[in-house]
Amino acid sequence: MEAPSEPFLSRPVAPAKPAPEEPGSHARDMLTVGGVTKRFGGFTALNQVSFEVREGEILGLIGPNGSGKTTLFNCVSGALPPTAGSIRLRGEEIGGLTPDRICHRGIARTFQIPRPFRKLTILDNVAVAAHFGTNQPNTEAQARARAREMLELVGLPTDPLAATTLLGAGGLKKLELARALATGPTLLLADESLGGLDPSEMHDAAEMLKRIRRDLGITIVWVEHIMATLMRVVDRIVVLDHGEKIAEGPPLEIAEHPQVIEAYLGEKIVLA
Ligand code: ADP
Ligand code: MG
Repeated sequence: MEAPSEPFLSRPVAPAKPAPEEPGSHARDMLTVGGVTKRFGGFTALNQVSFEVREGEILGLIGPNGSGKTTLFNCVSGALPPTAGSIRLRGEEIGGLTPDRICHRGIARTFQIPRPFRKLTILDNVAVAAHFGTNQPNTEAQARARAREMLELVGLPTDPLAATTLLGAGGLKKLELARALATGPTLLLADESLGGLDPSEMHDAAEMLKRIRRDLGITIVWVEHIMATLMRVVDRIVVLDHGEKIAEGPPLEIAEHPQVIEAYLGEKIVLA
């Protein structure tokens, strides 16, 4: 048991409207986002967004540039406090907690723009993350062992001397993923992890996400622009447009959703 029983609010958060108890929500929901609004001054980046992430699923989060996907990840991971609304992890409110506390509760995220410690080796970058996360290793050797496991999982060198500066765009994305996984999450938020990859690397990365779910038993929310790839991997999709949820459903349904096609897809996607 953690000492404080009340969620520790690190920053003032405007009085949150109580989340409406949604009839569809149930015990196996990993994450429940209820009426989340995020304003930057007069600009509303997220407007009353609600959805659930079910335990064990890969949920795709899509929408045009600027529709609020990264902002939503920022709110869920604690980088930004939501202006209003509720964010629950397995039923426990986490909205407004600091990123370290949310990480310790078991949520990890990757960043759209990787910013590793460039002077550290690849292995040390991941070992640092292992020290930071849940079930923290007691020794450096344990942290490095976990780091090696994660590097193997994403297909990066485990050689303790391998330099981070040698990694290209694809390698940096994999490192980002290994660092997030090393924190021991139950829920992974992956932000545009395929950006900068060629088609075969993209295919491999999509397979990797499935492997990660299977081997580590974690739940994944995946933001990705490469629709044809995303649609083959995810169980369900949530669509944002101008900060509002405009659709939610299985990939085939979303690919044919008129409002989604108008807002985002432009034309009907043919799934090969
Ligand atoms: P997406 O990830 O879907 O492309 P973002 O969540 O990054 O979109 O951005 C949504 C909107 O919020 C954009 O208009 C963006 O300019 C704005 N925005 C994001 N972060 C901030 C911030 N820290 N301050 C002000 N505006 C922001
Ligand atoms: Mg983004």
